[in-house]
Amino acid sequence: ANSLKGTQQEKGAVFEGVSVIAVGSGKGGVGKSTVAVNMAVALQKAGKTVGILDADVLGFSVATLLGIEDKRPMALDKETILPIQVYGLKALSMGNLTKGNQALIWRAPVIRGVLDQFFYNVQWGDLDYLIIDLPPGTGDIPLTIMQQLPKAHLLLVTTPQSAAAQVSVRLGSMARQMNIDILGVAENMSYFQCPDCGNKYFIFGQGQGERIAAELNVELLSQIPLAPEIREKSDEGAPIALNDEHPLAANYHQLAAGII
Ligand code: ADP
Repeated sequence: ANSLKGTQQEKGAVFEGVSVIAVGSGKGGVGKSTVAVNMAVALQKAGKTVGILDADVLGFSVATLLGIEDKRPMALDKETILPIQVYGLKALSMGNLTKGNQALIWRAPVIRGVLDQFFYNVQWGDLDYLIIDLPPGTGDIPLTIMQQLPKAHLLLVTTPQSAAAQVSVRLGSMARQMNIDILGVAENMSYFQCPDCGNKYFIFGQGQGERIAAELNVELLSQIPLAPEIREKSDEGAPIALNDEHPLAANYHQLAAGII
């Protein structure tokens, strides 16, 4: 009964019975999409049925992170498309609908229309989790998504830098005002561990993840190191969490375990 296929008339019922996790950040570049994609992979590896929807319509990156930029969704009928199947996930991003580096010059009402189609005209099928990669910040689109999906949970991604942490508190307080449950905070790029000497270097500072978790009265779920392999695997379109043996994958498996 947790089928996500709905029509515009059934808006209230769409995503019923599915745990929707919106992954958000106060600003861009903190690794929100990387966390979203690796967490989706980790949840899938834990035996869950997982969809990932790229709601960052202008700044889309999920298709690249999953290596599916060349894949186009199949149409089921005139109104419905199927998400792309990849690594056991169901995924959909603007990257699957646009060509190359063409810029999308769209205002908010158009973007909202696209998101409506991602929500209501995609046959997501039965899912345990739908991960939504939000656009950064507290703008119109994160706000609209939280309004449309009042049962969603928010995972906040931040770096330990005070500027990033401060704006993520703002996103958290926006969610609170809208009665959206905040799952917790994932601190990304927490430190770099030198492969030669083993020392940890706190490049973006320290303690901010803990501070904002305390400020919002939620848990600090994870502290993910800054590691070139994470970036490299993302660039290859094969998220590091796919590789169970890799020690860095454990960060995402632990994050998923904390959510299940
Ligand atoms: P956002 O979605 O917040 O804009 P991205 O997920 O696109 O951020 O990440 C920004 C850049 O940082 C990307 O190049 C990504 O590969 C890299 N990155 C993200 N997390 C890490 C990490 N833990 N270690 C190294 N590089 C990372």
